[in-house]
Formats: sequence, C-alpha cells, structure tokens
Amino acid sequence: MSNENYSLIGIYGGTFDPIHYGHLRLAEELNELLVLSKLVFIPSGSPRLRNAPVASKHHRAAMLSLAIQNNETFMLDDRELWRDGESYSVVTLREFRKEVGSECALCFIMGSDVFLNLSKWYCWQEMFELCHIIVADRPGYLSILNNKMPSELTEELKGRQASSIDDLKESPHGFIFVAPTTLQDISATVIRESIVANQSVRYLTPEAVLEYIKTNRMYSGKEWNLKN
Ligand code: ATP
Repeated sequence: MSNENYSLIGIYGGTFDPIHYGHLRLAEELNELLVLSKLVFIPSGSPRLRNAPVASKHHRAAMLSLAIQNNETFMLDDRELWRDGESYSVVTLREFRKEVGSECALCFIMGSDVFLNLSKWYCWQEMFELCHIIVADRPGYLSILNNKMPSELTEELKGRQASSIDDLKESPHGFIFVAPTTLQDISATVIRESIVANQSVRYLTPEAVLEYIKTNRMYSGKEWNLKN
C-alpha cells in the first residue's frame, strides 16, 4: 500500500477524572513523534474494568475541553459519554473506521498499566483489525516487555510489535508500538486524593481545569452525589 495517501489519527480513551498533565504531555509527545493529523480524546462513559468515575460526564467533558482549548490538533469526542451501557473501545473504533475509511491509520493510545489488562477488554483482538496500539510506559508499570504480561498478550506483542514508526505508516492497523515518551508520575487518583486532603494540585493540571474544579467544588465531597 502506498504510504503517501493516508494520515495517522490518534485516539486517546480514558476516564479523564480529571484530565492532567500526564495525559496532555503524553499526547503532545506522541503528536510530535507520530505527526498525527489530529488527536481525539474520548472520555469513557461507564468503564467496564474499573470503578465508576467520580466526576459527572458533563464535568469530565468540560474539564477536557478547557484543557485542550488552545491546541488545534487536539479534539474532544464525547460519543462514549452518551452511549447506553458500558463503554467498549472496540465499538468506538468500529465507528471511527467507518467514518474515516481505510486510507488512514488509527493509533489508539494507552499507558502500560492499561495495556497489561488489554486481553480482558471486550473483543480485544478485533482492535488489531481496526487500529494500531500505541503504548506509553508509566511509572510503576515499567518494562511492559517483561514476563509479567499475560501470555496471550506476550504472544500478540511478539507478532505485532512495530520496529519503527514507519511500520505505522505502512498499514492502517495491526501494530503495537511501544513509544519512547517521557515518564510523568501524575495520576488522576493522586489529584482527587490531594483535593480531598486539601493539598495543592497546582501544576498537575492546567490552571483552567483547576479553576473549574474549584468553582464547581469538585472531588471535595459535595459533588460526589451528582447523577450525570
Ligand atoms: P486514575 O488515577 O483515576 O486511574 P489515570 O491518571 O490513570 O486515572 P485515566 O484517565 O484513567 O487517568 O487514563 C487514561 C489513559 O492515560 C490510560 O491509558 C492511562 O494508562 C494513561 N495515562 C494516565 N496518566 C498517565 C501518565 N502519567 N503517563 C502515561 N500514561 C498515562
């Protein structure tokens, strides 16, 4: 296939509860490295393999919007927030593939903590028919290539690991690329816990997101009962 005719689109799923500089810096580095035509953030509505998000769907989308507002390449896609039932990335990827056609590589981004659980995802192997998987190491989950990976994932990685970025341009889907990104020891859990403990979370997330959290008194207890 000619690699002149299609672009690379980044797809970044997560709870983003709240979005933070760990997410944003990773997205920026991957955008630069892979020369993405766009990078779409997709907040998950009801994730199947983890606790329900603390902040409402509305708040998580609003914070994400604020965080990416000055970046022309970054976009918010809220389709999973309003879909009924649990959020399955493969369903989103099927939709995306239909929308963009076959002449474009979809690059689904995840941290190594999430990658280690990939084989528990609904229809996880179908994802390789739809996208590449881009894995970024995360402090505490280093060396995803070590033998702590489930055997089915080790097998998949053996057969699919991209040797260079060029592989991602040769095919619209099917590779796993372990990206050389900078480790950022930031998590949404620590941000939420710090807010509850009345500790500073400044410089862990953009000022606009902090202001939003403050204005809406989020994560401090009072907002936890919001329904949507
Ligand atoms: P929580 O602490 O609530 O679990 P989180 O900080 O892990 O949240 P998520 O929104 O769940 O954030 O993560 C979305 C995606 O971003 C996941 O694939 C996760 O691995 C990745 N990610 C989050 N933070 C980082 C980070 N600091 N470095 C690399 N990847 C990250």
